[in-house]
Amino acid sequence: MPDERGSKNKCLGCGFCCMKVVCVYGQMEYEVDPQQECPGLYWNGEKYRCRLIEKDSIVAEALGANTMCCSVLTGWRKNIKQRSKHEDQW
Ligand code: SF4
Ligand code: SF4
Repeated sequence: MPDERGSKNKCLGCGFCCMKVVCVYGQMEYEVDPQQECPGLYWNGEKYRCRLIEKDSIVAEALGANTMCCSVLTGWRKNIKQRSKHEDQW
């Protein structure tokens, strides 16, 4: 049976979480600090995607890729578009 809550809160690729703080896997892979821009993050014309998740299934599983959103309250989820790291927090 579909999990209604999980469906509602799934990742939409808004980019908020990755743009605000680079995850630990991104920090190690790309040798960047948490506040830098993550080289793994890219805009595919419709939503944000992660190069590292696409190439490494272990990282994908560890990060829970394509499952729940880690920042469900961000307004970015309601307006998916290409953004800058320095846009409003929420
Ligand atoms: S804030 Fe949520 S919807 Fe946006 S990219 Fe991160 S997990 Fe996905
Ligand atoms: S490595 Fe992927 S999941 Fe981690 S911050 Fe960068 S884009 Fe996001």
